[in-house]
Amino acid sequence: MNIENATIISNVEIANGIWRMTITARETSSQYQGPGQFINLLSDDGWEHPIRRPMSIANVRGEKIDIIYKIFGIVTKQLSQKTSGDSINILGPLGNVFTGWKTRKTVLVGGGVGLAPILNLYDSCPDSTLIIGARTADEHFIEHEPGNNIYLTTDDGSLGIAGNVINALENLDFDDRTIIYACGPEPMLKAIQHFAAENKIKAQLSVESYMGCGVGLCQGCVIERQNGQLKKHSYHKKYTLVCMDGPVYWSNEVNFG
Ligand SMILES: Cc1cc2nc3c(=O)[nH]c(=O)nc-3n(C[C@H](O)[C@H](O)[C@H](O)COP(=O)(O)OP(=O)(O)OC[C@H]3O[C@@H](n4cnc5c(N)ncnc54)[C@H](O)[C@@H]3O)c2cc1C
Repeated sequence: MNIENATIISNVEIANGIWRMTITARETSSQYQGPGQFINLLSDDGWEHPIRRPMSIANVRGEKIDIIYKIFGIVTKQLSQKTSGDSINILGPLGNVFTGWKTRKTVLVGGGVGLAPILNLYDSCPDSTLIIGARTADEHFIEHEPGNNIYLTTDDGSLGIAGNVINALENLDFDDRTIIYACGPEPMLKAIQHFAAENKIKAQLSVESYMGCGVGLCQGCVIERQNGQLKKHSYHKKYTLVCMDGPVYWSNEVNFG
C-alpha cells in the first residue's frame, strides 16, 4: 500500500454520467495484484472533502491506471472537471482480488458503479460471458453482442435485454465448473446471491459499501458475515470490514440483511 500524487493523463465521458480517467501512478501500479483491487482518492487537497472516495481499478498498463466512475455527488463531479496534467492523491492498491477465474467457466456481471472491476477481470478472461446492467441505453458504452456472449440489460428496455441482470442470468446454462463474478449496487448483489444459492452456483461478489479511510481505522465499511457469531470482546466473527477483508467475498460469506 502506498500514497502518491498521480498525474491525470485523460478524463473522458464514455456514457451518460460515466467517465474513464487514466492516471500515471508508478508506486501504486507496481504493487497492483489483480482485478478486484481499488484505490482511495482525494479529489483536491483542501479541507472541504477530507474523506477519500474508493474507486475500483479498471485497468493497469505499466504505470498507467484506469478508473471508471459514475457521477454521484460532489467528489465524483469534481473528478469529472479534472483535466490532463492535474493531479489527484491516491492511496492504494487496496483490497483483495477475484480468485479461481483461471481454471473455471466464468460469468461476469456488472451494474451501476460496479463496472470497473468486472471489465478489468474481463480483460484477463475474455472467454467469459459478460453481462452489464444499466437503467437505460445511454448509460452503456459497449455493444450488446449475444453472439460473443456479451449481454447488456436495461431497466427500461431501450437496449439489449429488457429488465435487470438476473433476466440475463436466467437464460444461461450453468454447470458445476461455473463461477459468477459480480460487482454492483447492493440490491443487485443480493439478487445474485439469491440466484447463486437457488441454482447451487459459486459466486464471488465485490461489495461497494460506504467507506472512509480504506485501511480499517474508521470501521465505516462494516458488513455482516453470514452465520457469524458475536464473541465476547471481538466482533470480527460477526462483522467484516470491506476495506480490509474484501471487497471480494464468496456469496455465502456475507449477509446484506
Ligand atoms: C470498494 C469500492 C469500489 C468502488 N468503485 C467504484 C468505481 O469503480 N466507480 C464508481 O463510480 N464508484 C465506485 N464506488 C462508489 C464510489 O466510491 C462512490 O460513488 C463515491 O464515493 C461517491 O462520492 P461523491 O462525493 O461523488 O458522492 P457523495 O455525495 O459522497 O454520495 C452520493 C451518493 O453516492 C453513494 N455513495 C457515497 N459513498 C459511497 C461509497 N463509499 N460506496 C458506495 N456508494 C457510495 C451514496 O448513495 C450517496 O448517497 C466504489 C465504492 C467502494 C466501496
